[in-house]
Amino acid sequence: MTVTHRQQQNPAPASTPSAGVPSATTRPTAPPPAPASPVPAAVFDAYPDLRLPSDFYGFADAFTDAEAESVLEGRRFFAAEVAPVADDHWERAEFPRHLIAPLGRIGVMGTEWESTRRFPSSALYQGWLALEMSRVDASVGTFVGVSSGLTMTSLTVCGSPEQQAEWMPRLASAEAVGAFGLTEPLSGSDAAKGLRTTATRRGDTWVLSGEKRWIGNATFADVVVVWARDTADDQVKGFLVTKGSPGFTATKIEGKTALRAVENADIVLDGVEVPEERRLPRAQSFKDTAEVLRLTRAGVAWQGIGVAVGAYEAALAYAITREQFGKPIASHQLVQDLLVRSIGDITASIAMCARLAALQDTGGTTDAQSSMAKSWVTSRMREVVARCREVCGGNGIVLETGVARFVADAEAIYSYEGTREMNTLIVGRAITGHAAFV
Ligand SMILES: Cc1cc2nc3c(=O)[nH]c(=O)nc-3n(C[C@H](O)[C@H](O)[C@H](O)COP(=O)(O)OP(=O)(O)OC[C@H]3O[C@@H](n4cnc5c(N)ncnc54)[C@H](O)[C@@H]3O)c2cc1C
Repeated sequence: MTVTHRQQQNPAPASTPSAGVPSATTRPTAPPPAPASPVPAAVFDAYPDLRLPSDFYGFADAFTDAEAESVLEGRRFFAAEVAPVADDHWERAEFPRHLIAPLGRIGVMGTEWESTRRFPSSALYQGWLALEMSRVDASVGTFVGVSSGLTMTSLTVCGSPEQQAEWMPRLASAEAVGAFGLTEPLSGSDAAKGLRTTATRRGDTWVLSGEKRWIGNATFADVVVVWARDTADDQVKGFLVTKGSPGFTATKIEGKTALRAVENADIVLDGVEVPEERRLPRAQSFKDTAEVLRLTRAGVAWQGIGVAVGAYEAALAYAITREQFGKPIASHQLVQDLLVRSIGDITASIAMCARLAALQDTGGTTDAQSSMAKSWVTSRMREVVARCREVCGGNGIVLETGVARFVADAEAIYSYEGTREMNTLIVGRAITGHAAFV
């Protein structure tokens, strides 16, 4: 039986409080039962702890032994090291930097690429790792999504062999941290046409000027992939800006209500000089930037499932323990309706992403296929976390109950890497042949 991180954090109380009101120190602890397996259970037989109670159709049964062991290793790490500090860092709005090196050691970075992966693996496994991280802490999941996902994918798609050799192993081991600088104060959804940061070539040096906003990890990243418009041909190109470059400043954005532990930054590029060998040579236009995003959007969809799963597990545990009208609220029909609709959305989301993963493994996906998963799954996530909050009543807005952080974090995941509207318009263009962006 899998034990959720919330349960591991808080040993079972000796008894339920007489009024049936779990207090901050008596968080519900009854482990929700895993559903009976309706699928061939070879992997689950070998790894009985592998199946999450929220994996209702047993999708994890498709893992190889190496994948199953790696997922379990990650899950143990997230439960033991991440869960106990997640709420505190979220409240303080500080990234748990002491976890960066261990994240590199457990092999959750660079799983996609031949040069950095520990073993060949499926896209299902790679996505599932994102689910496992965000199920515990979406801020940690986002840190990995930026440093490993966006930064390493930019290097793989657009970088030179020398740039890849310099950065990929260091990013995979978390010896170095990466960031991805596309969004600007005046350009978010319209980055393709609206990007204002400029790159001007002077001999073998490029001079970057402009501003970026929302750039995750940028306050402490060793390398930031900066997307800027070449003043000579008006095309968007990519540059590797390293820590401490003169003219580069990153200021943490304060007052966020979602993903508070992610350190997002406002960046100023004031005539930053970047040598030609730090320009990404295969980034010739925004089409190449979009190719990076096509590859990473599926990972964001998996993060969204993780957020929904984290909230669902906490709400289910709460509903089993919390009593009203003399019995657990889990035994009331309307509460079951909230929970069942949630596990239904989670199951459908996993199914969509599992099929997307199969397509990724066998020849790739289109922009529209990735966009549909990102927008559809994160829309379901938003509904699931709201229902889970409802299940917990007033206690649902307190971090300690285990749902509130997911409710808040869902808002950022819903909007980053393409808002629901932008991803809808990408799918709309694919199915109608009409672009409706402007
Ligand atoms: C926590 C967090 C982390 C982030 N991390 C990064 C990062 O690491 N790197 C990075 O580069 N960016 C990052 N972003 C930025 C993110 O990608 C943008 O917020 C997102 O692309 C939306 O841009 P915007 O916020 O400027 O919204 P806008 O583009 O201003 O959009 C506002 C609203 O208008 C809607 N809208 C805009 N145009 C249209 C249209 N044509 N039709 C219909 N509706 C439209 C949008 O869908 C949205 O609802 C992050 C954002 C957040 C919140």
